[in-house]
Amino acid sequence: MAAPKVYKNFINGEWVEARCGKTFENSNPADRRDVIGVFQASDKCDVEDAIAAAHEAYRSWRLVPAPKRAEFLYRAAQMLVERKEELARDMTREMGKILKETRGDVQEAIDMGFYMAGEGRRLFGHTVPSELPNKFAMSVRMPLGVCGIITPWNFPMAIPSWKIFPALVCGNTVVFKPASDTPLSGWNFVKILNETGLPKGVLNFVTGSGGAVGVPIMKHKDVSVISFTGSTEVGRMVSEACAPDFRHCSLEMGGKNMIIVMDDADLELAVDGALWGGFGTTGQRCTAASRVAVHKEVYKEFTEKFVRRAKNLKVGNGLDPTVEMGPCINEGQRNTVDSYVQVGKEEGARLLCGGQPLTDGDWEHGSFYQPTIFGDCDPKMRVAQEEIFGPVVSVIPFDTFEEAVEINNGVIYGLSSALYTRDVNRAFAAMRDLYTGIVYINAPTIGAEIQLPFGGTKHTGNGHRDAGQAALDVFSEWKSLYVDFSGTLQRAQIDTNA
Ligand code: NAP
Repeated sequence: MAAPKVYKNFINGEWVEARCGKTFENSNPADRRDVIGVFQASDKCDVEDAIAAAHEAYRSWRLVPAPKRAEFLYRAAQMLVERKEELARDMTREMGKILKETRGDVQEAIDMGFYMAGEGRRLFGHTVPSELPNKFAMSVRMPLGVCGIITPWNFPMAIPSWKIFPALVCGNTVVFKPASDTPLSGWNFVKILNETGLPKGVLNFVTGSGGAVGVPIMKHKDVSVISFTGSTEVGRMVSEACAPDFRHCSLEMGGKNMIIVMDDADLELAVDGALWGGFGTTGQRCTAASRVAVHKEVYKEFTEKFVRRAKNLKVGNGLDPTVEMGPCINEGQRNTVDSYVQVGKEEGARLLCGGQPLTDGDWEHGSFYQPTIFGDCDPKMRVAQEEIFGPVVSVIPFDTFEEAVEINNGVIYGLSSALYTRDVNRAFAAMRDLYTGIVYINAPTIGAEIQLPFGGTKHTGNGHRDAGQAALDVFSEWKSLYVDFSGTLQRAQIDTNA
């Protein structure tokens, strides 16, 4: 077999090796024998180089007119369209999710590219009347400087695109660290942006571990904002690193999302939603429906249908078009899933299907796990409270709508929730009372579109949002401008009532 390709960092417009000369291998979670590539195991020195390049490039990039900056994004989105299939195949090979889903991941980056390219001709501020005569008042967005972008493995191109495109269009420069399980998709994304002719230093890419690369990025005084998506534990560290000198950070973290199925719901539709929400991306979405609360009137019927469908899901290599669910991202994640299954059993949850790693035949060399459903769960059980990030769904029976809302809101996270009902009054009450950043009616907890804000409450986020117009707020600051053309001293709040 040919030696795996060596992929380099991208710093100041050059593809370079890590200064320490160390590398790491990335392998296919569906078959560990398949080594995808060799990547740079960078450290603080490479981060210093990348930040210095981004800092220097910011001096001129911020002055490039926004519509011109946007043209780079537009060209990148066009190239993503042209290469969508090969990018999706690379992603399935390195991350495991099925091809339909990786095509969706690339599509999300395309959508974000075109959307943010459009922002280059908007970036709206406000023009408001002044309270004084012959005075003009308006606000504009100004960029922040160098942005540190740290991303997870589950959406290895979509999530970087949510951050890098708005950062660039606002006039910032970027140092991007991808997750170590999915550096190839990050590399592919950066390569395309480089091919648009982006000036050197505007976008820099450094691979390596969270400790060796992520920590020096988040602690660096020349990094004005960190945009992070990942676990709540690491998000808290980012927040603490930025706090002493008030550098900005935008955090998108864990979730324990829930679908509520009312007694008047279309049960077939709800089962479709629970299956897709629970087992899409092998349950490794921040928005995964890892809890399903079902009204006691329809609990038995729903659960039987749900379990029957879950047992029939075809698990395997995502490059096989007949496969419906891929592997866990790595052995560590599969072990976490298995340990939660033991926890669920010990807590008295009823194992309705799954509960075992898949280790023989075609699964032998991958990190596969059976689609797993626990029934009769108490909302306080750990399997109904903690993020598992794998193909495990806890089904919780309930009596009233109010009780279901309370169960939904009774976890530390607040990313996404969903309600299946035919009652429009209940739908609106749910939209008001479910305390999550995203609410779906008659659709599962997954399926966000890029033109609306994405993020959550409580331990899921720190009040910022990716995507939509809200993303611009992360990567810019408001500046209010007053122009007094009266030729006299006019005092606001004082001369207005004279
Ligand atoms: P993670 O372990 O927190 O890693 C996320 C990123 O942070 C990776 O690039 C990682 O690098 C880096 N990192 C790890 N330790 C670090 C440290 N000490 N300092 C700085 N950076 C560090 O999370 P994950 O396992 O990749 O992703 C799963 C989590 O992400 C789940 O909790 C999921 O809910 C969450 N997520 C949230 C959203 C959302 O929008 N709310 C979306 C997707 C995922 P390495 O890869 O090198 O370790």
